[in-house]
Amino acid sequence: MKEVHNNENAKKFGMVIDLDKCTGCGSCMVACMAENNVPFKVDESNKLDSITWIRVYKLTNGKPFPDTEICYIPRPCMHCGGKGDLGHSPCVSVCPATATDYDHNTGIVSQIYTRCFGCRYCMAACPYHARYFNWWDPIWPEDMKKYLSPNVSPRMRGVVEKCSFCFHRHQLAMEKAHYEGRKELEENEYQTACTQACPAGAITFGNLNNHEHKVYELKKDPRAFRLLERLQTNPKVYYLTTKEWVRRAGDNYLKNEFKNVNV
Ligand code: SF4
Ligand code: SF4
Repeated sequence: MKEVHNNENAKKFGMVIDLDKCTGCGSCMVACMAENNVPFKVDESNKLDSITWIRVYKLTNGKPFPDTEICYIPRPCMHCGGKGDLGHSPCVSVCPATATDYDHNTGIVSQIYTRCFGCRYCMAACPYHARYFNWWDPIWPEDMKKYLSPNVSPRMRGVVEKCSFCFHRHQLAMEKAHYEGRKELEENEYQTACTQACPAGAITFGNLNNHEHKVYELKKDPRAFRLLERLQTNPKVYYLTTKEWVRRAGDNYLKNEFKNVNV
């Protein structure tokens, strides 16, 4: 039976990342790790089992010098809404434990660590490689333990984790609004750590359904595209670029196949 979700107050949080502004500095990755207690290994030389909720990739146009061009593309979880925005994102659809779920009030795809039993079906299903498995219990240097965020639970060996759009910040902002007698959040009251850390101002985060918010206007920009649009995962992360080769590499579309998303 087709699910129907008619929540008038439903928000759809998402981000627009301007690739023409991104310098590849990695501040978003560092801020994310600090905010979300993302563990690191003593030896990070093997990136295959490193955990980075937002990862900055480098793209090149593949041309030899002097025509070489590069572009950096930060990739968090896309918080896919699935076809028709019904919350049937690839990872949610395959999880046998309901350990990953779609919140119809915010459009955020959550990860509930205590339910996850580590089958990793979600990792296989995610076309964006946005999920990470904990192969070890996290180990932080003794002095660093004082700096762990008290708002995010650390994960244990054997479970999958991923970007949450800093959902704990949404909860904190909603609590504050409640105590102040407000039902709604101010435009930028809830922001992700990566958005705030980006020195280039490349990331804009907000409610994609709010016509007054900058993020709404930006996602309609003619430069906007989403990764692997053809899979109809309906991501909530949009990218902006003026470079056609970046768009092609990111969207993976074939020649003459491009369709402007503008949804
Ligand atoms: S990007 Fe991957 S992990 Fe995130 S919602 Fe989509 S399928 Fe799930
Ligand atoms: S912090 Fe901003 S400029 Fe730096 S890599 Fe991330 S998106 Fe790019």
